[in-house]
Amino acid sequence: MIFNVTGLLSGVLGDSRKHKIENEQFMIEDRLLTRINGPIHLIRTDRTVILHADITAVTQETCSRCLEVATVDIRVKMDEEFYPINLDLMDQFGDREADDDFYYDPALIIDKRNFLDLTKALGQALIAAIPIAPLCKDECLGICAVCAANRNLNDCTCPRSRSDLHWKSLDKLLEKGAESPS
Ligand SMILES: [Zn+2]
Ligand SMILES: [Zn+2]
Repeated sequence: MIFNVTGLLSGVLGDSRKHKIENEQFMIEDRLLTRINGPIHLIRTDRTVILHADITAVTQETCSRCLEVATVDIRVKMDEEFYPINLDLMDQFGDREADDDFYYDPALIIDKRNFLDLTKALGQALIAAIPIAPLCKDECLGICAVCAANRNLNDCTCPRSRSDLHWKSLDKLLEKGAESPS
């Protein structure tokens, strides 16, 4: 996911390029992201390159209900600004001083060879877009709280969930309360 932006940097304000990511994959934070797809639009500003992207990908997670493998679809829309190391390439008049104090996110640097590497920034965005409680399927029935059977595979005869059990004992207490004289 590396784009050579030499042409863009040595062009003029407002120049743009379109690219496409097609069926790529990579590892980030011990997670494999596959089927990465989507359009990339790069636009040159006076000192930076703005990137717009609309990316879909797939990863494997653990289902939050049944603990089986869940295949999760992710989508991110990115709007990021990338900063070239070779600022002099863009700044034809050379009348501006480099801003040494400015903090550049290393994921958003265009390197000395004018390569814009999207992998880190895209990886971070995709990881952030993974749902907190992924499901193997929307209608996943989860694990039985009583016998631990995967209820997608095994229709056990236990009360439907732990909360049902609680409610049942609470009902009994309430019945007792109603029976006792006030
Ligand atoms: Zn599940
Ligand atoms: Zn059960």
